[in-house]
Amino acid sequence: MKKPIYVTRSFLPPMEEYMDEIKNIWENHWLTNQGPIHQKFENALSKKIKSKNVTLFSNGHMALEAALSIFDKGSEVITTPFTFVSTTHAIIRNQLKPIFCDINYDDYTIDTSKIEELITDKTVAIVPVHVYGHPCDVYKLDEIAKKYNLKVIYDAAHVFGVEVDGESISNFGDISMFSLHATKVFHSIEGGFLAYKNDLLKKQFDLIKNFGISGPESTEIIGFNSKMNEFQAAMGVVNLRHLEDEVNLRAKLVKIYNDFFEEISIIKLPCLRMNNVKHNYAYYPIVVLDNDFITRDELFNELAERNIYSRKYFYPIVTELECYKTYKTNTIVAKDISEKIITLPLYGNMQINEINEIKNAINEILELKGMVR
Ligand SMILES: *Cc1c(COP(=O)(O)O)cnc(C)c1O
Repeated sequence: MKKPIYVTRSFLPPMEEYMDEIKNIWENHWLTNQGPIHQKFENALSKKIKSKNVTLFSNGHMALEAALSIFDKGSEVITTPFTFVSTTHAIIRNQLKPIFCDINYDDYTIDTSKIEELITDKTVAIVPVHVYGHPCDVYKLDEIAKKYNLKVIYDAAHVFGVEVDGESISNFGDISMFSLHATKVFHSIEGGFLAYKNDLLKKQFDLIKNFGISGPESTEIIGFNSKMNEFQAAMGVVNLRHLEDEVNLRAKLVKIYNDFFEEISIIKLPCLRMNNVKHNYAYYPIVVLDNDFITRDELFNELAERNIYSRKYFYPIVTELECYKTYKTNTIVAKDISEKIITLPLYGNMQINEINEIKNAINEILELKGMVR
């Protein structure tokens, strides 16, 4: 049996580099609660993404919950169902009401032409998702937010390192949540952070992730616990040095995938068109267009039979999950894309023979299904 190929494989730095970074922990016995490596990582991130304010969290989800805690309960926020459950959970767990907007057919981000009709006097924010590493229409979103006096809180879990017109993606909107989960392009094992413009939020975010505790005898707000520990921060510090190499390796693989799929008419390639965008190649999602030969599910199953594990990501859309069944939506494009999309294996140290194996498997599957090319 051939070695299985999974949809992703977490980056690991050379072990000695990590050891070197955590050595100090054995000297100072400072394991968590804003230790020196935490501080070092926060500063390094802030510099890297050119964001004045950065607050680390134990994971991206809790960071998003913290970001959305700035709104009054019962307010409405406009978001999309074409995302990971975390986005919607964070909205509802803050007792906000999600109003679902459809996505673009081209890049799967929020369809800005459909936002204005969803705005009511209860709307306080737009919560768009930069999916697969592709940025939303950040300029249009800015314009709408300004016109209606709304905040923009991005789920930026997929876009670490991305730039639009030379500007860091973290500098668009009011707050961006980045995930540093092991499966992301850049990670700290588990982890996440908020990047934001308003200096006044720093205190609120530092408090909320530490139970709201502001001193030995004072607790100011009803917070939770989502502090990043020193071992996570150390992984982040080390991995940051390898980010550029990781992205370059992915770019080469994406080029190989693109050249291959350009020849296959029933496959829609990921959107990487925008030439003002510096990409991070976080994922490789393809859409199996309507055709007489093969469906997305058949492709998924046939690949799995050949030990190649892709992912139906995002499927189903959030509003079709058991816990959100009561939320009615009319997001036709999101539903359609979710039923046809498949994310193929992609990670920096993917070998040429592995990507060749995937290409050969797809050629074999299409031939099996009677597709003549
Ligand atoms: C990964 C991810 C999250 C959650 O991040 P965690 O760090 O795993 O908590 C949220 N939204 C999207 C779109 C994600 O991909």
